[in-house]
Amino acid sequence: MPSTTATTVPEAPAKRLFVFDFDWTLIDADSDEFVFKHLNTELHQEQLASAGKVQWTDLQQRLLGELFKCGVTKEDIERTLSQVPFAPEMIEALKLMKSQGSELYILSDANTVYIDTILKAHSIDNLFTKVITNPAAFDEQGRLNVVRFHGLDKKPHNCPLPCQPNLCKGREIQKLIDSQTWDQVIYMGDATNDFCPSTRLQNTDIVLARRGLLLEQEIRKRPYLVKANVLYWDNAQDVLSATHAIFEPCSPALQAPSIKLSDEMLPKVVSTTPNVQVQAVKA
Ligand SMILES: [Mg+2]
Repeated sequence: MPSTTATTVPEAPAKRLFVFDFDWTLIDADSDEFVFKHLNTELHQEQLASAGKVQWTDLQQRLLGELFKCGVTKEDIERTLSQVPFAPEMIEALKLMKSQGSELYILSDANTVYIDTILKAHSIDNLFTKVITNPAAFDEQGRLNVVRFHGLDKKPHNCPLPCQPNLCKGREIQKLIDSQTWDQVIYMGDATNDFCPSTRLQNTDIVLARRGLLLEQEIRKRPYLVKANVLYWDNAQDVLSATHAIFEPCSPALQAPSIKLSDEMLPKVVSTTPNVQVQAVKA
């Protein structure tokens, strides 16, 4: 005789993919700039003056050679990276995402050494499934070398959107999206090269765009290319609040259709602070 006792199968948690830009998104700095700003003022000035005139990754490779010639060691670079500002609320948000069963990836135009060192300094490297960025390594003498993620030996990616020749973030996020079946994809970024990945998301997905910076400008120029809901944030506390809202389906924060590109969420003028200028040349 069959049992009449009803069994309750717990509902599986939604499977979410979080993908993050790094500079001015997870951290409150540009890691490439931070290193030179704190270790060699002259090279920092050269970095700023050369930005936009030569390819950014190639520029870092050349300047890192100059930094090495000046006697800057691996330890100097690692110590400097450990001082990059990383807001506690951002770390809390990342831990919350991971604790809810989400997969976390970093998709960045920095490099593997900078990102790994910074994540390890905060003991959060284990939160991320993978870091997708320009490969870097110290050689035996302690000189840091960085090369393009999408190397010159490969066919150009020819992305029609504003991606850099060394990295089409849209192409890379698409591979992650296609790798599994996700209930929701969330992309977080701030710069021009974060626009292409934002266009790869669907209408149930979310773009977390840093307010007043160049990603917002791109979305405002071509909002019809972004199907996902766009949430604007200013600081890590906003990201933590948005993360709570994402994991609490009844939260009003994600229910109003007008959340996408509402006037209230869009500043009238995109900021022209020095941060934006640096971001503009990198991405
Ligand atoms: Mg960025």
